[in-house]
Amino acid sequence: MSDTIFDRIIRREIPADIVFEDEHLIGFRDIAPQAPVHVLFVPKTPIARLNDLTPAHAEIVGRLAVAAADFAKQEGFAEDGYRIVMNCNEHGGQTVFQIHLHLLAGAPLGRFGTSK
Ligand code: AMP
Repeated sequence: MSDTIFDRIIRREIPADIVFEDEHLIGFRDIAPQAPVHVLFVPKTPIARLNDLTPAHAEIVGRLAVAAADFAKQEGFAEDGYRIVMNCNEHGGQTVFQIHLHLLAGAPLGRFGTSK
């Protein structure tokens, strides 16, 4: 059974600032925000890594992006703009092994993808 910290948030075993939920996804504010707005959208289906995706997951991955875009419109920053990011494994900076989409917004964001 999958048991990441995000599964525990979905099960309400630990608190989170939840901003969105439906039968497929949950969205909550990142505990260590990297932008004025930093929300994570997480599928309720256990999928550890982007590497585990198959065509059967196409709908749920699409739902992540739709939920983020809807949230941006609802919160009024869609026209200013935002960034969505998904990290995979060590080089991608993944630390929680349940796939998730980061929504970052609220200020002009720096360029991305630089290596040390
Ligand atoms: P990643 O590094 O792409 O796996 O992203 C994991 C994200 O989860 C990080 O940005 C963390 O700050 C965030 N995070 C970890 N624990 C929590 C938590 N309990 N509540 C909200 N966000 C969390």
